[in-house]
Amino acid sequence: MRPDILNPLFAEVTSLKGVGPALARPLDRLDLRRVVDVAFHLPTGFIDRIPRTELMQADVGKVIAITLTPRDYRTSAGRGPTRVQASDAHGNHVSLTYFGGNSGWVKKLLPLGEPRRVSGRLDQYGPDLQIVHPDLSEPDEEFRGREAIYPLSEGLTSRRLAALAAQAVARAPDLPEWIEPGLKAKREWPDWHDALARIHADPADAKARERLAYDEVFANQLAMTLVRADTRKRKGRALHGTGRLRDLLNLPYSLTGAQARTVAEIEGDLAQDAPMLRLLQGDVGSGKTLVAAMALLVAVEAGAQGAMLAPTEILARQHHDTLRRQLAGLPVEVAVLTGRDKGRAREATLMALADGSIDILVGTHAIFQEAVGYKDLGLVVVDEQHRFGVAQRMLLQEKGRSPHLLAMTATPIPRTLTLAQYGEMDVSRLDEMPPGRQPIETRVVSEDRLDEVVNALGRHLETGGQAYWVCPLVEESEKSDMAAAEARAEALRQRFGEQVGLVHGRMKPPEKDAQMEAFAGGRTRVLVATTVIEVGVDVPNATLIVIEHADRFGLAQLHQLRGRVGRGGGQSRCLLLRGAALSETARARLALMRESNDGFRLAEEDLRLRGAGEMLGTRQSGEAGFRLATPEMLADLLQCAHDDARLLIDRDGGLSGTRGQAARAALYLFERDAGVALLRSG
Ligand code: ADP
Ligand code: MG
Repeated sequence: MRPDILNPLFAEVTSLKGVGPALARPLDRLDLRRVVDVAFHLPTGFIDRIPRTELMQADVGKVIAITLTPRDYRTSAGRGPTRVQASDAHGNHVSLTYFGGNSGWVKKLLPLGEPRRVSGRLDQYGPDLQIVHPDLSEPDEEFRGREAIYPLSEGLTSRRLAALAAQAVARAPDLPEWIEPGLKAKREWPDWHDALARIHADPADAKARERLAYDEVFANQLAMTLVRADTRKRKGRALHGTGRLRDLLNLPYSLTGAQARTVAEIEGDLAQDAPMLRLLQGDVGSGKTLVAAMALLVAVEAGAQGAMLAPTEILARQHHDTLRRQLAGLPVEVAVLTGRDKGRAREATLMALADGSIDILVGTHAIFQEAVGYKDLGLVVVDEQHRFGVAQRMLLQEKGRSPHLLAMTATPIPRTLTLAQYGEMDVSRLDEMPPGRQPIETRVVSEDRLDEVVNALGRHLETGGQAYWVCPLVEESEKSDMAAAEARAEALRQRFGEQVGLVHGRMKPPEKDAQMEAFAGGRTRVLVATTVIEVGVDVPNATLIVIEHADRFGLAQLHQLRGRVGRGGGQSRCLLLRGAALSETARARLALMRESNDGFRLAEEDLRLRGAGEMLGTRQSGEAGFRLATPEMLADLLQCAHDDARLLIDRDGGLSGTRGQAARAALYLFERDAGVALLRSG
């Protein structure tokens, strides 16, 4: 399916010369498994070596390249460093220092009396000059003055990666141009292959870097636009709400302005033939559930059924309870279906769904299984959207006759990233909290004052409150995360006994649900958790949250965690525990957390703080899966890529023209599967 021209790029990394199993391992750690991964593993900077013929005190601290002759070895006992005394052409001395204690290897590297090109940072060591772990070139090879620096893992050097990148670039084909010619000219961007070659040769080449980033963003937006166009062209069905059910609603409060506006937007979408594809963004507590309920009522008023999908069992049951309460007294049948429902009860639900006596079905993925047949599904609401990828969203669309889709998320993401992640959707924002909500009081406490924090927790429990204690992921491995949570739970049990519950990512779902339910039901009063505490779970009586290692986390995540409290009427508190040594960024983040309860503002600030000079490695590219575009580049390029992608699809929806064909290659190159899948089917 992939155009043949791209095949060399998608070959295994071991097809590169010199890459055997030993080198494949460190490459794998950097997620470099195919040639294309190496090609897109961009250098983050470079070192400039100053060519010298003579060692000089004045160069201390600088990276120099110089010819030296090894004169003497000084090995130390045990695992101490090996030092090689060497001299320049003028008889000045420097010691080349190797740690790691294998003097034999060093002696082979630097035979006595044989001149070598050496480079590295010149340091002062006592009265002497030294270079630690210098780079050596082959005897007759000249150092390039400027050399690219790559993100590394153990067992790799930048020089090695540069050599592999050069091979990858050599294998990369010339690709037809997919960028709109006017834009390319205006931005002075090079051709694709040229850009790739240039960035590896000169990491400071801004035009080349920008072009490659644009390609990635463009492919992303193109895939989104294809999903959107595909949805648009499906025959859905217009749902006209009569208001007969909503008029019967007896709410103890009126809608906020933002809720009313959003409901109107949804009503407008539902009244169209083309299926709705709308994202509802709203901070925790902004009242998304009520908006969902109104939307579902519109569908039922129009004679259709609605379904609401929750990511977990417990959330599904909670939504079911909430909807039943809100819709009490209305002639609307609400049912729940999860993997836990079995046997006769499940059969009865399925029958009622098929004959239309259930109007609204709430549940987990179980509600979209093969065996579940709706009479007339008109609207699907997906709660906590971020757990569902584009692919799953498309799957939902296949159930029934292209029902309308409303996705909801509490993850506050900045506008630019919203476009990158949900570019195919229309977006509504609940940017207003229901009145009377007290902001969560946030304090930052040093980790050495843990005793005081535990005492404060004790007082909180004595007054009948409940609390979360979060031990978020610190190390890469989930194991240590779990271990930290287990150890904390154990320590707290010493003092508070069986009131302490524990939930972590390694637990089986039923066990996790049982722990959550014990806490929600008040049978446990403190819940120690890793970051898995379910988004959206409502325990109004939990008004205290303690977050360990708060300084190591992004604002968005801290805000998300903090949102577990502040769900009842009372004052809620959040204690952020921080380590002793704080980076500038960590300090700024914690200050913002104390200052603001506004998820959207925090998300924007988070992006700004993260973006400042920080390159995204392949691992952190996170959210929208970008590896070439940094957050700042995204901010710069997204709108443009978005407009360009829409224009292209407007003109050539099947991507069959010359530029369209070229753009297909971009989709494959960046593995935007959703878009690719649509091209295949259509
Ligand atoms: P979320 O957006 O996090 O899903 P919920 O829908 O759970 O938020 O709503 C949070 C709380 O706010 C609920 O207790 C709900 O009843 C209440 N609420 C929702 N809308 C309003 C409103 N317009 N006025 C007052 N309270 C509201
Ligand atoms: Mg919710």
